[in-house]
Amino acid sequence: MPRRYFLENRMEPDCEVAELTDQEARHLAKVMRAQPGDQVELFDGSGFQFAATVSEITRHSVNLRIHSRELVSREANRRVTIAVSLPKGDRQKWLVEKLCEVGVTTIIPLKTERSVAQPTDKALTRLRRCVIEASKQCGRNTLMEIESPQSFGELIEQTNHEVVRFIAHPYSSADKAASNSDITAINTNGSVIAAIGPEGGFSEDEVDSAVQSGFKPLSIGSRILRIETASIAISSLLIYTTDR
Ligand code: SAM
Repeated sequence: MPRRYFLENRMEPDCEVAELTDQEARHLAKVMRAQPGDQVELFDGSGFQFAATVSEITRHSVNLRIHSRELVSREANRRVTIAVSLPKGDRQKWLVEKLCEVGVTTIIPLKTERSVAQPTDKALTRLRRCVIEASKQCGRNTLMEIESPQSFGELIEQTNHEVVRFIAHPYSSADKAASNSDITAINTNGSVIAAIGPEGGFSEDEVDSAVQSGFKPLSIGSRILRIETASIAISSLLIYTTDR
């Protein structure tokens, strides 16, 4: 696989040169010890990828010549949003990296009754950087979006009702278990949202109000999964059922 680097600024259609700065320039020049003439692949988050050659390495930047541009989609067929009460510490970074690899379109950090970790602006900036690193590795040319945090109330009020919506909840009353949704049977190639709760789970009130607003209750087995495991398993099921 070619070495991939991220361009902070979108490329103009006819542009024949590009410049990497900051972290990306350091990665290419110092870590990878690039030399003029080396071939690399660039992407700018627009969906395009660019074949380029290193032309000059300066103290703070790397200049490149662009040979070709190609629109290459490695996006899933279905737009999947994971609204998730983020776990603590390094687990956030791991979760973002894996959801990006799996092909999730958007993450919404969710504030619920029992949420503990509330991402600061600085933490969100770090998580968005993780999306770039994961995209370099997995080949996505469009960046997974990390939206501003939403409260659970905002999520259930504001969601477009044409979107298929799930609330993941591991154990339910007999009634809810009976109405558990079959995640593999949804027949939309459109957008799907799955809400994943905090370590303490969603409260019964939250589950009830989500279901009243049209969310489908979803349990994917009798085991209690951690936030990351539930998010990855559910997004993989949602993507795999259309993305073959
Ligand atoms: N003790 C918590 C509870 O009672 O819900 C466990 C929460 S679990 C660690 C974190 C979140 O992962 C849950 O709120 C749910 O959204 C999701 N989750 C965990 N296991 C699940 C399962 N078997 N099916 C569906 N969702 C699950």
